[in-house]
Amino acid sequence: MIWVITAMGAPGPHWATGEGFRVLDVTKLLCRPEEVAGGLRAGRAVGHGDRFAEVKRPVVVWNVTRRCNLHCQHCYASAQSVPHPDELSPGEGLALIRELARCQVPALILSGGDPLLRPDLLELIRCAAEHGIHPALSTNGTLIDAAGARDLRAAGVGYLGVSVDGIGRLHDRFRGLRGAWEQALRGLRHCREAGLTVGLRFTLSRVTLPHLPGVLDLMEAEQVHRGYVSHLVSVGRAQGLAGCALSPGETRAAVETVLDRAESLDARHVPLHLVTGNSDADGVLLYLRARERRPATAGLVLDLLERRGGNSAGRSIANVDDRGEVHPDQFWPHHSLGNVRARPFGEIWSDPAQPLLARLRSRRSHIHGRCAACPFLDICGGGSRVRAEALTGDLWASDPACYLTDGELGLAAASEESSHAPARPTDAGSAPAPLPERASLVSRC
Ligand code: SF4
Repeated sequence: MIWVITAMGAPGPHWATGEGFRVLDVTKLLCRPEEVAGGLRAGRAVGHGDRFAEVKRPVVVWNVTRRCNLHCQHCYASAQSVPHPDELSPGEGLALIRELARCQVPALILSGGDPLLRPDLLELIRCAAEHGIHPALSTNGTLIDAAGARDLRAAGVGYLGVSVDGIGRLHDRFRGLRGAWEQALRGLRHCREAGLTVGLRFTLSRVTLPHLPGVLDLMEAEQVHRGYVSHLVSVGRAQGLAGCALSPGETRAAVETVLDRAESLDARHVPLHLVTGNSDADGVLLYLRARERRPATAGLVLDLLERRGGNSAGRSIANVDDRGEVHPDQFWPHHSLGNVRARPFGEIWSDPAQPLLARLRSRRSHIHGRCAACPFLDICGGGSRVRAEALTGDLWASDPACYLTDGELGLAAASEESSHAPARPTDAGSAPAPLPERASLVSRC
């Protein structure tokens, strides 16, 4: 399953599912930051709080099975045609959900493989919903018919995301199945017609990049609630696509395209939220655009982005794989924090002696290189640690996917002036009402 992450707590369709903790909501943050701030003041959001220290109630991504009917080239989970023999049983799955409820996990993303291939999926969804956890689904969409979509809605699915890798044959090539694109769209439409909140996801690579404008058009034409543009993370089968990673210039152009489209959609009152995931430098680019083009709200945008705090692996996002291994997020299959068969999830997640979690939660002290000196570290969180490890061999090296220049980050000026303070807007417009203290937005597991 292709699934991609990041975060901002903002009211909206994804907010209701808990996914808002992890993705960068470009539409809300760039075009309507006052709404986000209003939601925070009204207590509708649980933010990241103290971004580098606190243990959060994480959104949990559970890969319920590795089984999939497709064979995607960029599958981080290296999905197979058969389930793992040691997959969590139905009883173990229900026990896990009850434990997540005890930990007050706000949302559970059921992923895979394809979760539709797990026979007890509806029971798992119902259990999560009954325990007050928002269940969401990440699927390739090909296995959903009209009755299945209605069953998902009745079971309590809050949000369902379908991945596409381009228009038509390119998608089929990536997915390894002729007709996969038609089937995915059919499944998406069934879900929309059943009344589910739906989204489309698209992963950027050198192969898929030319299809970005067409996929943005598709998101609008299909009237989905959310369009998710993800950066590639080279783990699982996607390791084989490392050569397809975009250059900094290509990445930047792609993100600018998303920002442009978000502004256009908002100006036309189209209710489609564009979000990005897996490169927290996007938040910095968003702020730089706000500072240049929307100075009246740029100060508020900066505050909101700092509250969000960038990459959330090991903090407000957690992953449980099909065998019960717990990971900082779903891109860390090679780093297990423990197994829910041996220890309750809450104990694993809250263990102060767990060295990787401790370092991820105090990452500021461990990151070195360019990111450590970056004035926007509070917005970005230093990007993806797992990508730094995959591409450099050093978990704490700067994120190699950062496409921002030293000049626009103020790094040259910072070294000359011995200051890391970001260039804040000189005209932030009328001062907004104060937002809640960050600590009050934090809940513990
Ligand atoms: S240099 Fe590092 S911390 Fe700064 S924006 Fe780029 S990835 Fe983020």
